[in-house]
Amino acid sequence: MSPVGLDHDARTVAAAAAAAPDWAALAAAASTCVACPELAATRQHVVVGDVPVTGRPRFVLVGEAPGATEDETGRPFVGKSGALLDLLLGEAGLDRAEAAVLNVVKCRPPGNRTPRAPEVARCSGWLRRQLDLLGAPVVVALGLSSAKWFLGPRTVLAAVRGRPHELDGRAVWATYHPSAAIRFGPNGAPRAGLLADLTAVAATLEATP
Ligand code: SF4
Repeated sequence: MSPVGLDHDARTVAAAAAAAPDWAALAAAASTCVACPELAATRQHVVVGDVPVTGRPRFVLVGEAPGATEDETGRPFVGKSGALLDLLLGEAGLDRAEAAVLNVVKCRPPGNRTPRAPEVARCSGWLRRQLDLLGAPVVVALGLSSAKWFLGPRTVLAAVRGRPHELDGRAVWATYHPSAAIRFGPNGAPRAGLLADLTAVAATLEATP
């Protein structure tokens, strides 16, 4: 998105994020962000994201926005979706402890509604800077909102999943959100697709020195 197309609050967020020299500074600045009035008024926590203790993740997982449990705890993917994500990461041979876990939007939309375009635009400054600071070469976009953030607003998940997309020096994989895997059940296509994509990501990482 071009800076020209950003509203004033989005430019303010982008400037604050760009000024953060490291993860701790970014987390501190984001934790008091009020750029989206409705979200800032209803959230309990800004869910900035998890990073490995080393600060250098092997890969980055990016979801849509925090849910109720994430809002309560201040941590990403810790509710039912998080439990399934952890399970499928393990089955795929990936370790969440080696990942950074982020969301496109850091504050819970009321009632878990889909984040609105201006909210995504405002929060993008934080995510962009997070990705730069983390420097991980592999990103997994979980769900359509995240896939659209990386690959464009016309993205159709079925058309882009199953292979990496080179973007800004990173390999971006887009796949199902764990909540879709829960919604369609243990024998549904989203769960199988998510596991297959995570397994492919694991194979890529394994082959990377
Ligand atoms: S969603 Fe992002 S931009 Fe909006 S108030 Fe929360 S941290 Fe700020």
